[in-house]
Amino acid sequence: TAPRAGALVLFGITGDLARKMLLPALYQLARRGALTEPVVGVTRGGWTLDRLRRHAHDAVAAQGPVDEDAFTRFSGLLRLATIDYDDPGSFRSIAEQTAGCGHLAHYLAIPPVLYARAATCLAGAGLNENARLVVEKPFGHDLVSARELQSELTKYFPEERLRRVDHFLGKDVVEDLLTFRFANTLMRAVLDRHHVRSVQVTMAEDFDVADRGGFYDAVGCLRDVVQNHLLQTLAYFVMEAPRSGSAADTLTERARALKAVRTVRPEDYVRGRYAGYLDTEGVKPDSTTETYAALRTYVDTDRWSGVPFTIRAGKDMETTSTEIVVELDRPVPGHHHTQGAQTAGPNLVRFRLMPRSGVTFSLLAQHGGDGTLLDEVTVTTDFTRLTGSDTSAYEHILEDSLTGDPRRFCRMDMVEECWRIVGGLLTSEGKPVVYRPGSWGPAEADRLVTDERWFPLENV
Ligand code: NAP
Repeated sequence: TAPRAGALVLFGITGDLARKMLLPALYQLARRGALTEPVVGVTRGGWTLDRLRRHAHDAVAAQGPVDEDAFTRFSGLLRLATIDYDDPGSFRSIAEQTAGCGHLAHYLAIPPVLYARAATCLAGAGLNENARLVVEKPFGHDLVSARELQSELTKYFPEERLRRVDHFLGKDVVEDLLTFRFANTLMRAVLDRHHVRSVQVTMAEDFDVADRGGFYDAVGCLRDVVQNHLLQTLAYFVMEAPRSGSAADTLTERARALKAVRTVRPEDYVRGRYAGYLDTEGVKPDSTTETYAALRTYVDTDRWSGVPFTIRAGKDMETTSTEIVVELDRPVPGHHHTQGAQTAGPNLVRFRLMPRSGVTFSLLAQHGGDGTLLDEVTVTTDFTRLTGSDTSAYEHILEDSLTGDPRRFCRMDMVEECWRIVGGLLTSEGKPVVYRPGSWGPAEADRLVTDERWFPLENV
């Protein structure tokens, strides 16, 4: 196991992600005593340490009441280093701020075009020695660019010291999929091709791209959330139980699962765009970027062979919710009790990841006197732990950046598999189908699901 880093070097501490996620998460870590090392913010300039501390306070306060004693402890850990990407010598300022800290964890929350440059300059100042490099998403924009970036970064940071962030991997509820599947006999017994008819994975957002049009238009829905978040979540849902609780065994099984996900055929892909998207500031007038993506694939393992998995994601949809809905087979007709089940709805197991995480079962119960009239009943359990929040996901990711535990990160072979799975869809041309804001996306996607029927989500 890797030793704990002696300081966190945070590039992009003045940026959007730091304000929304990283600073609040670091404060939470400091509050519960899980962070005592210096946090060195790296900036191109224009900031003083005082300004950074005030900015951090605002960022923390935006999320809820501030424990001022804890904030003072956190604030005392903050340091600042000013650099210039065109002047590698300027990276010595980081060395000055981290003198005596031992080996370092560098966290790059800066635009991805700068990753290779930052790595080169860090190495120029000797700051890559025994250091870890953590990079935010995205890792490349396709398989080729991901491999190019990898070869740049590994010149200075070998794979075992590289960490790629996908914050869904930091969510307890995503890890809990494994526990729920394998700790419960009820689940172990039915989650396979012998009992499952189809699986639908949805990540719906009820908001549009707002002021991030310029960023979003260059990326689109498939690259923004499907290639990374939803495929990583799918891996947790379909993987076999790791041999042990070790990070290595977990990573091995997750990677094996992704390898078994079939490359999606262009005819199994539907792209959509909400009406009004082209009027967004920063969006090109002739943009063909999708704000909605739906695809069907299969998982070629003994457990899942033949079961269709449909994944969809979209902006400006009816609600904000992420769920995996498992449709179980109907019982074969044998006697009068099962006859009723032929016409009633199927049993569903809904893994509700966000916003209210938990599991809901849709079951059938007797309604009339003779056992053939059935009503759907639901059994709902909410997970009580703080499972859904993005800040708590980032707490795990930042803590793991310091400790070096690799299990909540994306290994290079996984990145490659994810780009391989959607690779044939990235160059899709033509205009996406326009859908009504506040709807469930284009009806064209209905053909991708069994019986052309999407199951309504529970978290509505
Ligand atoms: P950002 O606010 O645009 O930029 C972060 C910081 O990078 C800036 O504060 C700036 O720091 C520096 N920077 C920006 N443009 C630069 C340029 N052209 N040259 C040199 N430095 C520049 O980015 P962000 O939204 O925080 O995202 C940071 C990383 O996290 C990106 O890789 C992004 O893909 C990823 N990410 C972001 C989000 C999100 O919600 N924002 C979500 C998931 C992943 P200084 O001026 O202090 O040098």
